[in-house]
Amino acid sequence: ETIISVKDLTARVDDVPILKGVNLDIKAGEIHAIMGRNGSGKSTLSKVLAGHPAYEVTGGSVVFQGQDLLELAADIRAQKGIFLAFQYPLEIPGVTNLDFLRVSYNSRQKAKGLEELDVFDFDDLIQDKLDIVKMDPSFLTRSVNEGFSGGEKKRNEILQMALLEPTLAILDETDSGLDIDALRIVADGVNQLTNPTNAVLMITHYQRLLSYIQPDFIHVMHAGQIIRTGGKELALELEEKGYDWIDDLVLDTN
Ligand code: ADP
Ligand code: MG
Ligand code: MG
Repeated sequence: ETIISVKDLTARVDDVPILKGVNLDIKAGEIHAIMGRNGSGKSTLSKVLAGHPAYEVTGGSVVFQGQDLLELAADIRAQKGIFLAFQYPLEIPGVTNLDFLRVSYNSRQKAKGLEELDVFDFDDLIQDKLDIVKMDPSFLTRSVNEGFSGGEKKRNEILQMALLEPTLAILDETDSGLDIDALRIVADGVNQLTNPTNAVLMITHYQRLLSYIQPDFIHVMHAGQIIRTGGKELALELEEKGYDWIDDLVLDTN
């Protein structure tokens, strides 16, 4: 079963074309990784899929669970099960993490036609999820991400993911800036989430995360296109030869 199918997707931001024909198919139960050097368009792709309003789609199509994704607003996409963990998680002063999580959770429940949880039932649920990411309960009563360290913000993103159980989780460099312990927690969270009914798209600049999460496919992004797809040997090849190797690949095919 196909979760998402991206065809010839082009997009621009501030009138600058960034995505130049992206093709990507993700089936249920699969973990995909996108690698590529800085500026190749990885974050742009994740924001376009999540429906960020600053990015204008100029061509191509995205079908998510049989539905035209591009016609849906960002909040509807989230309710339908697309989750984007940001490279730079946002701070929301004045809103407690607990309230934020409960509202997000209940809007997803509502979209699924399931019962919303009251504060007491939600508290039971969130305690279980905190264990997955080994987060202290005191984080719940603080404002969302405010004053959190880089690693704590990333962990908080994984907490949101564990709670919302998305159909497609997109992790944009959730591994960057993490020490080994935090990296393991992120990887455990992702590995616990994956099951035969959902899929993960993780974007990473480094090979490091791939020792903890085994993707089924690795894609290399270059100048707004996926120029190569392979298995984990592709990540090892990249690690060994560096991103300059990609330029050679592109020159060879031109
Ligand atoms: P990556 O995540 O792979 O590092 P991005 O998707 O963040 O790459 O960026 C891709 C390209 O788009 C970069 O060259 C970047 O400078 C450019 N870009 C991003 N935002 C804007 C913007 N608002 N205006 C013009 N160019 C932008
Ligand atoms: Mg699998
Ligand atoms: Mg990026």
